[in-house]
Amino acid sequence: MDILKIRIMDISDKGYEINEVIKVSELQPVDVEALPIEIIQLMGTVKKTGKNFLFQGKILGIINHKCDRCLDDMQYRLDREMTWLFERGLVSTDLNPIIEESRSGESKHRKAKDEFDELAEKRVFQGDEIDLTPYIWEELVLDIPYKFLCDINCAGLCPECGINLNHEKCSCGIRVSKEATHLPNTKLSELLQGINLNSKEE
Ligand SMILES: [Zn+2]
Ligand SMILES: [Zn+2]
Repeated sequence: MDILKIRIMDISDKGYEINEVIKVSELQPVDVEALPIEIIQLMGTVKKTGKNFLFQGKILGIINHKCDRCLDDMQYRLDREMTWLFERGLVSTDLNPIIEESRSGESKHRKAKDEFDELAEKRVFQGDEIDLTPYIWEELVLDIPYKFLCDINCAGLCPECGINLNHEKCSCGIRVSKEATHLPNTKLSELLQGINLNSKEE
């Protein structure tokens, strides 16, 4: 997405500010499942830090969804802060200090390892622009839950009468729990019967 490709030459000493409303479908990589959110707001600044660039910002968004347990309408608020360090380079060599190590000998072994740990946190860009697109997509994937719950303690629906137990109470509860205690035995005896039948058939 073009708005998210920041040209290095546009990053002044004060930094480069970004505040955009973004269509999530435009961030979506090919062959990847869509996320249940249409738009997000991205705010942040890219600043020079020595040879590198630091992006600090946040993603805001609202997801209207149904609770997966009680089916009530609910809202999920997305509010994620990010700090990303970008370093210019070629991914393969820059992320592989082992090559460096074999060239410079044993003594640098420890240093190479520390550098590697640091590099693992860095994001590498090539050429003269930083593309935030894949990193924003990644944040969304990490943040958006697989299951939506209106509340961590959502009571859900009564399996007998279908009433939303967050709002109302029903009288099925007692009977359900009674049946529930017998359920495993019933299932087991049915299963055993099935086995018996099968062995008779043979
Ligand atoms: Zn719920
Ligand atoms: Zn009920």
